[in-house]
Amino acid sequence: MEIESLGIEYSKEERQDFSGFKVNPSFIFYPKNEHDVAKIVKFANNHKIPIVVWGAGTSLTGAVSCNGCILIDMKYMNNIIEINDVDWYVRVQPGINLEFLNKKLMEKGFFLPPDPASFFLCTVGGATSNSSGGMRGVKYGTFRDWVLALKVVLPDGNIVKLGEPLRKNRAGYDLVNLFVGSEGTLGVITEIWFRITPLPREKILTVLAYMKDLESAANVIIGLRKGKIIPEISEYMDNNVIKALNKNLNAGLEESEGGLMLISIEEKYLEDLKAILRDNSTKIIIAEGEEAERLYSIRAQSAIALRAEAKNMFVEDIVVPVSKLPEAILRLREIESKYKIKLPIVSHIGDGNLHPNILFDEMSNAQEVFEEIARIAIELGGSVSGEHGIGEQKAKVMAEQIKSHNGEEVLEIMYKIKGLIDPNNIMNPGKYVELAYKLR
Ligand SMILES: Cc1cc2nc3c(=O)[nH]c(=O)nc-3n(C[C@H](O)[C@H](O)[C@H](O)COP(=O)(O)OP(=O)(O)OC[C@H]3O[C@@H](n4cnc5c(N)ncnc54)[C@H](O)[C@@H]3O)c2cc1C
Repeated sequence: MEIESLGIEYSKEERQDFSGFKVNPSFIFYPKNEHDVAKIVKFANNHKIPIVVWGAGTSLTGAVSCNGCILIDMKYMNNIIEINDVDWYVRVQPGINLEFLNKKLMEKGFFLPPDPASFFLCTVGGATSNSSGGMRGVKYGTFRDWVLALKVVLPDGNIVKLGEPLRKNRAGYDLVNLFVGSEGTLGVITEIWFRITPLPREKILTVLAYMKDLESAANVIIGLRKGKIIPEISEYMDNNVIKALNKNLNAGLEESEGGLMLISIEEKYLEDLKAILRDNSTKIIIAEGEEAERLYSIRAQSAIALRAEAKNMFVEDIVVPVSKLPEAILRLREIESKYKIKLPIVSHIGDGNLHPNILFDEMSNAQEVFEEIARIAIELGGSVSGEHGIGEQKAKVMAEQIKSHNGEEVLEIMYKIKGLIDPNNIMNPGKYVELAYKLR
């Protein structure tokens, strides 16, 4: 059989991503290098079989769902090729786990800052293809801000290098950033050069603040912005999240009607932060060292704790201008009362990124609730996704956002780019830009 003649390990099995979207491929291939990937892609292109690339399957938007596709699992392509401590970059294969990579970088005094809360699970290839963000996003941005260059297998099987491992490079259109965040719809990333940065030298403290309410948390962020203070992280979790963490992960947090904030900050800003927190919080605890790390890890696992509370969970990822946070929060509360549901909220609140979680066993209108929340962001001048991406789930509201903020022509340009690079539409079809264009 032709599949066997490719000489690449493969299997057949059904999978499921973190949000429960079904992944039902005809074959799963496990390439060991870019030439294996090129062979698989050429084969799929010749036979017009859809390809979906699998990093670790932690997508929250159905970005790896498929039926009858060839799934390319990148787990064997997980090497660090070079850590350059003069030019400050790391060159890696995409299947490496983000936490493992950061441990290796930290041994040399560097780190790659973006830290999706799935850092202990996800691959850097998946995080790049999603342009994932995370807790450090408030200071360091998302993966988009850290990718210098890529190697990509294009849908025709050709291998190209995009960009250079340089901080400055004005040679041509920015194709690197076209591929970052493209959700596997334009090609398979086989190598990445990331910018790295030295670990901070300043003493960093973590403040655990029990809040009066979510609105007070928004006020704290506005206070920090007005005070021109950039925290390392500034996270919010409401009381339902605290309860789920205590119940499912033994987190040992105090229950607090107003939820809690975790704010890590350089020591020199501590007194300013305390002043901002004074009117907004009920109690603060200052942590450093192991306790600060424990709190960071608890926050990272909040989605896992919430996921255990229901059969299904949709994780919303709206982002609004920080100045609009109080209004966004009010509108979320209205949705809770309208649909008589609980929306436990976790938030990278420092950059206006809110994750209201819709927990449900059988809720026929869960997608409707999801889209109504996304429309709040559109109306407030924000975005339907700050960092989780679009996949299947947010294509409709992405189309609405682009039509309203940018104009339909912009969506059409994106659709034409997809057709130009992938004329047979084999790369992750039926999602993201293609689906948004069709639903416009
Ligand atoms: C518990 C939990 C917490 C999370 N927290 C955050 C968070 O704080 N911030 C955030 O942004 N996201 C978060 N996420 C979402 C998700 O983990 C991230 O977006 C993650 O970076 C995806 O990595 P992955 O390796 O699992 O990719 P996958 O889910 O396997 O794939 C994601 C997308 O990338 C494509 N892809 C993967 N590898 C390649 C490749 N080599 N070439 C081309 N395309 C590829 C896939 O086809 C798919 O479209 C969280 C998820 C979970 C489960």
